[in-house]
This record gives sequence, C-alpha cells and structure tokens, in this order.
Amino acid sequence: MNQAGDRVKTIVAGAETGADVAVVGAGPAGLYAAYCAGFRGLSSVIVDALPEPGGQMAALYPEKKIHDVAGHVAVRGRELTDDLVAQVAPFDPHYLLGRTAASLTPDESAGWVLGLEDGGRVRAGAVVIAAGLGRSTPRVLPCLRPYEGRGVAYHVPRLEEHRDRDVVIVGGGDSAVDWALALAPVARSVTVVHRRPAFRAHEHSVKQMYAADIRVLTDAQVTGCEGVDHLAEVRVRTGEEELTLPARTVVAALGFITNLGPIADWGLRMENRQIAVDRAMRTNLPRVYAVGDICTYEGRVPLISVGFGEAATAANHAAVELRPGSRLAPEHSTDREAALLS
Ligand SMILES: Cc1cc2nc3c(=O)[nH]c(=O)nc-3n(C[C@H](O)[C@H](O)[C@H](O)COP(=O)(O)OP(=O)(O)OC[C@H]3O[C@@H](n4cnc5c(N)ncnc54)[C@H](O)[C@@H]3O)c2cc1C
Repeated sequence: MNQAGDRVKTIVAGAETGADVAVVGAGPAGLYAAYCAGFRGLSSVIVDALPEPGGQMAALYPEKKIHDVAGHVAVRGRELTDDLVAQVAPFDPHYLLGRTAASLTPDESAGWVLGLEDGGRVRAGAVVIAAGLGRSTPRVLPCLRPYEGRGVAYHVPRLEEHRDRDVVIVGGGDSAVDWALALAPVARSVTVVHRRPAFRAHEHSVKQMYAADIRVLTDAQVTGCEGVDHLAEVRVRTGEEELTLPARTVVAALGFITNLGPIADWGLRMENRQIAVDRAMRTNLPRVYAVGDICTYEGRVPLISVGFGEAATAANHAAVELRPGSRLAPEHSTDREAALLS
C-alpha cells in the first residue's frame, strides 16, 4: 500500500456507520472536503469504489508530476495523495474503500442514508459528492480475467510489491509507459506489450522508456496466461512468433471506462451528466453538496486546484447547516497549529 494506505482504516462489508458528513469519492476534492469538515469539528466517512484513495491521481497518473497545484512547484500524483491523506488524518475520517455508493435516501433522524452496493449504510447529516468522472471500471483483456487478483492488476499502488519480480505491462498510453518507468528500477524485469507500432503516451516518456532497461514489444498481443495458484507466465504473439515470458504480475493498463453509475438516479439536477450546483456548492437536495469534476456551473474549470476551493466552500456551508448559528468563515488554520499537529 502507498503511504496513504498505511493511514487508511476500513469497516467490514455490510456494516452500518455514521458521521456528520459522508463524502462520496476519495479523490483530491473529496479528501480535502473531509479535511475542511474536520477543521470545522465535523466527523466524516469517505467512500470510494477504488481500493486506494487519490482518485484519478492515484489510479491514472501516480508517477506524473503535477505542476499547477498552488504551493507545489511539482508534485507527483502519489505524493499529493499521501499529503492529502496525512493532512486529514488528525480528524480521523473513516474510509470505506473498494465500496460503491449506490443509493441516497432521506432519513428522519440523521438527514441522509448513503446505501453501499455491498449492503452497508452510512448515516450522515450532510453529503458531499466528490465522485469525479464517476465510477471507473478497468478495460480488461478476456484472457487475463482468470488471474485477476492472482497476478493481474489494473493499478500499481505499491511499487515495492514488485521488487525483484518479472512484470509485464500491457498498453500503449501514459499509464502503461509511466508504470514501466516507475517499475524498471524496482522489478527484476519489465516488458511492455503494445498491440500497435507506436505509443500514445507522452513523447518524452516514450523516449525514456526506450532508453531504460525495459523490453518493448510492439505489434504484439498477450494471448494467454499460465500459473498454478498464481500467474507465472504470459504468452505473447508478435507477428508469426509466440513468446512465453515469465510474469509474476501483468499490469493491464488499457484504460478505464467511466460512468456516473448509480449517482444518476439520486434525484439530483444534472447538466450534461454533471451535478448542477449553486455558488455554495449546494445541489437541489438539502444538505447535499457536489464538488470537484462531478459538479458543474457556468465557467467551471476542471482542475485539482478548483476542486480544492469547492471542497472548502461546501464543507463550510455544511458546517453552518449542521450547526446553525455557527459562522460561515472558518477560523484561521494558523491559530490552530497545536490541534492540527496532534
Ligand atoms: C492523465 C491525467 C493528468 C492530469 N493532470 C492534471 C494536472 O496536471 N493538473 C490538474 O489540476 N488536473 C489534472 N488532471 C485532472 C485531475 O486529475 C482531476 O481534475 C481531479 O482528479 C478531479 O478530482 P475529483 O476529486 O473531483 O475526482 P476524481 O479524482 O475523479 O475522484 C473521484 C473518486 O470518486 C470515486 N467514485 C465515483 N463514483 C463513486 C461511487 N458511486 N461510489 C464510490 N466512489 C465513487 C471514484 O472511484 C474516484 O476515486 C489530470 C487528469 C488525468 C487523467
């Protein structure tokens, strides 16, 4: 698990839990919303369908440097995720990872009940939807399916797990090339298999890949896998030739299909498959807010930094709704150093 993962707690499938604020999505906007809620004395539960926090940053570009987050000259997706998780940690949010939020129903006592796909329930006074592009499902190669969870992976959250192992990466986009570059110094061998002659990834990264200790097979396709309890080998066809490569892990970096999933049926006012919000990030449902790439309003720019501002706005408005009489503006964090470091 990445450093963020070390701090993540979870509860068993089907269990019920509660908090002042339920956050749907552990991407940058959701994590920061939980921080801002915590700063206002509100507890939070953070639900994400992915097994790791970080949203797109962790799933799609953990090794890429982000240059336009305020205060960071450059920060990798993985590092920003770790920092966001560390930042919210003093407020002890309850993470429910690998869990999809399936339904949202009003509840007389709590406010809202978020129903999870596995039967779990989260009772909360307010809900912040930070679901980004929605639920993402990895594109799969049918021949790899039998080894899912037994060597076939769609993310590389922990590079160290692959130390001294043979890794085959399938794909030709940025994720495939970035993961190959990140794994090359760690793994025993890295082979990239791409079915086309040229890569779609960033040109500079592709050059780095060809210069690194990485075997690159183009016009090539994985045709099968072998292994008893765990993946051990993959078969790759290149032209007329069929190779057998040792492989403890195959990373299928073939992209993700995203869809709004169940959120589309929660009675929210939508515009172009995004949730319409007002200037306080309120949706049409009481005490339900939307922030980050899932929300829309005139002139919105889909950037991490914009999502951070929206998260702060939503959490502070939620604080006022949940604690009537409290001020909208939070106190300055500079006045709370001791509490935040504890
Ligand atoms: C390759 C790439 C490079 C990028 N580079 C930059 C950059 O340099 N600068 C920048 O500002 N932005 C960049 N972006 C865009 C940036 O990643 C997004 O704007 C940002 O991730 C949006 O954050 P978010 O928290 O709104 O949503 P996301 O990061 O999409 O997170 C949403 C989370 O919600 C979860 N979710 C969705 N539906 C459910 C559900 N029903 N139940 C449970 N969980 C659910 C998803 O699993 C996901 O983890 C880049 C994007 C990509 C793909």
